Amino acid sequence: MADRSRRAPERVTHVVMTHLHADHVGWNTTWQDNRWVPTFPNARYYLPKDDFVFCDEGRNKEPGVVDVFGESFFDSVMPVVNEGLAEMMMPGQEIAGCLQVESAVGHSPGQVVFRARSHGEEAIFCGDILHSPLQIVLPQVNSGYCIRPDLARSTRLSFLNQAADSEALILPVHFGEPYCGYVRRQVPASPSNRPRGSNGTGCRTSMAPRACAPFRHTPHYRSRAGGYDRGSMSLPRDQQHAGSL
Ligand SMILES: [Zn+2]
Repeated sequence: MADRSRRAPERVTHVVMTHLHADHVGWNTTWQDNRWVPTFPNARYYLPKDDFVFCDEGRNKEPGVVDVFGESFFDSVMPVVNEGLAEMMMPGQEIAGCLQVESAVGHSPGQVVFRARSHGEEAIFCGDILHSPLQIVLPQVNSGYCIRPDLARSTRLSFLNQAADSEALILPVHFGEPYCGYVRRQVPASPSNRPRGSNGTGCRTSMAPRACAPFRHTPHYRSRAGGYDRGSMSLPRDQQHAGSL
């Protein structure tokens, strides 16, 4: 995809970022004439505002902070800002008439996800809420890059509940092929297995993280010709009963 864009970068109109970690901003700029310039000169670049402010104030360099933004802020973010191509993005807005911006903070201070709807179906570009399929089964497990651990856990749990309830196609960044799939509970919610505190729409209740349990269930993540298996990623029954999805 990036290779195709390089052939006609001037045709790209929107560049969106879920967050500003170094591995999510690299195509913003290219090295030309001894300086970093925007790769897509006619695009608007949408930056999560709270991530930008965090880096702009140098808080990513404070002691004890795992700096996943690094020098990319200066070679891949600031050049598009300096060229006047940047838009500060906040949850609640819509981009390009098709992407709804929603808050997903925790992994980074201002991470967002993008929800697209078409013909009654939904897809969610979910950034780094998930780094591994393991986190679908054990939502309390953070990556080492989640800057606000408790918030990252609660955001992940809420997201997984939403994804299971809405049957939305999710597009995590770090899973590898087939790059997208669906979250499914192993058994449907019913009065007998619905946890206390549920609103009746499914297994949603306490967001309190649980101690890590042995990994006993392998989530399947597979594709079929012509589409993706809607039963692909399931959650173990005991997780549902505990209310942690
Ligand atoms: Zn990240």
